[in-house]
Amino acid sequence: MYVILLGPPGVGKGTQGVLLADHLGWDRVVTGDLLRAARAQGTALGQQAEHYMDRGELVPDTVMIDMVRDKLSSMPAELGAVFDGFPRTDAQASALTMMLGTLGRKIAHVVVLQATDEVLVRRISGRRSCPKCGSVYNVFQNLPEVEDTCDKDGSALTHRADDQPETVPHRLEVYRKLTEPLIAYYDASPVPIHHVDGEGSLDEIQNNVRAALGLAQG
Ligand code: AMP
Repeated sequence: MYVILLGPPGVGKGTQGVLLADHLGWDRVVTGDLLRAARAQGTALGQQAEHYMDRGELVPDTVMIDMVRDKLSSMPAELGAVFDGFPRTDAQASALTMMLGTLGRKIAHVVVLQATDEVLVRRISGRRSCPKCGSVYNVFQNLPEVEDTCDKDGSALTHRADDQPETVPHRLEVYRKLTEPLIAYYDASPVPIHHVDGEGSLDEIQNNVRAALGLAQG
């Protein structure tokens, strides 16, 4: 079964996606991480994406859809997955429905995480990421054991270029304009859509996500 996590930047899709996927033994389809990995490897795709990412713009749909098509083809049909950061536009949502249809798979649930802009801006300002493994921490809520150091691989944590205060308002604007309309897209589809409060402790939010999906709470 596939679950889409929708919501603005900083709402906690990444953190909640990891908790849910680890709990269920599922895969994760995280397009931001796939793009960051492509950049770190210096591939042509990574170089193309750099320009858009650092400005808080969306990478073109065709690039993203091809990337997700490749990822889907490598995922065994029986393995569940959490989608984080995809789809982000109407074109991506339609393409995903079509690609899954071709594979005889479908989206089981959409979970919309929500929080006030004040909370989003604060979370993004406190976010620190591991450039090597993609793990995400937060100086306000989810500190690493050793300051500024990734718990998993010991790399020095960084503050993403697109998490700098000058880029955040634009990312929120892009979300409102291009991604938020997907709530109406899925509302009009047969896929169940659940609205979950993205404020509170990580465990509380995770419990709310699991409850929305009809899963036992931790
Ligand atoms: P994220 O880590 O999800 O916040 O993504 C970081 C950046 O990667 C975004 O601001 C976009 O520039 C790009 N990106 C990630 N996913 C997508 C997508 N589905 N469509 C377009 N651009 C994306």
